[in-house]
Amino acid sequence: MDWPRTPVEGIPARRFKPSFCPWKDCLSHRWDSFRYVKNGYYSRKSDCRRIQRFRCKICKGGFSQQTFSGTYYLKKPKLLKQIAAALVACGATRQIARSLGCSHTTVVHQANRIGRHALLLHSLTLEHLEFLDEGVVLDHAEFFQFCQEMPVGVATAVGSRSWFIYGLDAVPHKLGGKMSKARANRLKSFIRRHGPLPSGSYRRSTERVLRQLMKKVRPGEQLCLITDGKPDYRTAAQRYVDSGRLQMNVHPNPPRRLKHDPRSKSAAVRDRAMFPVDLLHKLIRHSNANHKRETIAQGRRINAIMLRLYVFIAWRNFGKDKSERCPQGRSPGMEVGLTDRILDWKQMLSRRLFPWRRKLSAMDRTLYSMKMETPAVGNNRHHELVNAF
Ligand SMILES: [Zn+2]
Repeated sequence: MDWPRTPVEGIPARRFKPSFCPWKDCLSHRWDSFRYVKNGYYSRKSDCRRIQRFRCKICKGGFSQQTFSGTYYLKKPKLLKQIAAALVACGATRQIARSLGCSHTTVVHQANRIGRHALLLHSLTLEHLEFLDEGVVLDHAEFFQFCQEMPVGVATAVGSRSWFIYGLDAVPHKLGGKMSKARANRLKSFIRRHGPLPSGSYRRSTERVLRQLMKKVRPGEQLCLITDGKPDYRTAAQRYVDSGRLQMNVHPNPPRRLKHDPRSKSAAVRDRAMFPVDLLHKLIRHSNANHKRETIAQGRRINAIMLRLYVFIAWRNFGKDKSERCPQGRSPGMEVGLTDRILDWKQMLSRRLFPWRRKLSAMDRTLYSMKMETPAVGNNRHHELVNAF
């Protein structure tokens, strides 16, 4: 993947050449060949820089160099990378707003915007990744939306060698396990006020992830899928196993033990095989304030929870060493051959990505337009901007 080193804003106006028209209805939006003319300058208010304007010769639409920058339409462009860095340093919205001296709603809006960019970046990287050259470890991480009575499982598919995160898939589901009487009453009262709870299944979520992964398996080769013993994984993968395209490596979770009891042999084998995904889940809880349990920073909307996860995986895949304990200066993105260096937030946000130029899955398209709703929240605001979509 040829990801640029210099942000669009750092390119001198005389050297900047747009490669496609930014207007989605223009014929030259999806093809990297079009004709334009220079059309004067304007002065940007935030830093008084002169920005080159252009006009597309096909749709006659106007645009500027700034239209292609990650900070398009922002009044305070410097905040973007600071907010991105704070989000993966376990900052909660109001804490970030206090330390940066801005409003907490600015942080919320920009966090969603960075999440949408990270979602498109993830889709771009998957387009550039030709084939999978390793096994994939799959497990669901458990979070909550709105309150602790509404669990959300998120399928996470991680490379067994590179620890690259290949996919996420959210599935709101019913609360399982034993329930105290007080909690059951709380749940009944919640359902009376907000309507029935969602009831998704791990099986469908696993099927969606596998559908994406199987496209990346070399013809004639098998994908090695490493999971724990949940029956849903086997059911979802059965048709690929029957066709000989997938081989399952199942490690059932051992029974719970007391803290200082020694691990059994099978538990040690399971922990070794599932390590990439277990580590990922620990890192998510360690680095994201809204994915911790039992805190007031817990996510309210499922859409925001997922977009924050995409911010995290952009940083994990491209902005962070694979291992903190044995640093080698190599990110998971470098391990799968997508980049040749670790990217910082300035570089990751250096280009605006356009949703109409990417092939997004139905779920990603819903997430991008913020239409995945949590009814209990009330007003679920969609992303409906016309020019800054
Ligand atoms: Zn055009």
